[in-house]
Amino acid sequence: MSRVLIVEDEERIASFVRKGLTANGFVTTVVGTGSEAVDYAITGGFDLMLLDLGLPDTDGFDVLRRIRSMGVDTPVVILTARDGVRDTVTGLEIGADDYVTKPFRFEELLARVRLRMRNERTADLTVLRAGGLSLDLRTRRASVDDLTVDLTAREFALLELLMRHEGQVLSRQQMLSHVWGYDHDPGSNVVDVFVRALRRKVGPERIVTVRGMGYRLTG
Ligand code: CA
Repeated sequence: MSRVLIVEDEERIASFVRKGLTANGFVTTVVGTGSEAVDYAITGGFDLMLLDLGLPDTDGFDVLRRIRSMGVDTPVVILTARDGVRDTVTGLEIGADDYVTKPFRFEELLARVRLRMRNERTADLTVLRAGGLSLDLRTRRASVDDLTVDLTAREFALLELLMRHEGQVLSRQQMLSHVWGYDHDPGSNVVDVFVRALRRKVGPERIVTVRGMGYRLTG
């Protein structure tokens, strides 16, 4: 089980990230201040830290400097609304491992988290299987009954979500927020469009419409 410390004071973003990571099998802890971030980080109980730069009590850079000076080597991915080159460089210089610029789509963040995750325990999660479907999360290869199918990045993310919740009904809202991010239009029918496209590629019987609720993957 991989544990992620989320340091983010903006509730909407913190909850978006927490839900997404939890749905992908991570165990998360959310804190909203720099001092809590330091307290939690020094326990060493996390495999990765997501660190917002603009915190109410201190700067994310300060948190990073403090934990590195205390010998905490947990990988840190900075979440920043400031997309200035200087911030990025400063962060990497003082010991961040990567950064994601806001606004971001969940799949971008997930890719960074997987890339930077310290422990090897994520290895067993790199290939998802359901029935004849298989998704290799590392090579981004999808196959149906051992035949490779070409999926776009969004189709891949959508299929990954369905496969991680095989047999469960996912609402359009869950699918939207996971694959399209928190700035999506809630009235959009983009999920239905993508489900149709996916069905053509992986077989229509595999993605079941649950009337009034959403979609469900059957293995
Ligand atoms: Ca902030």
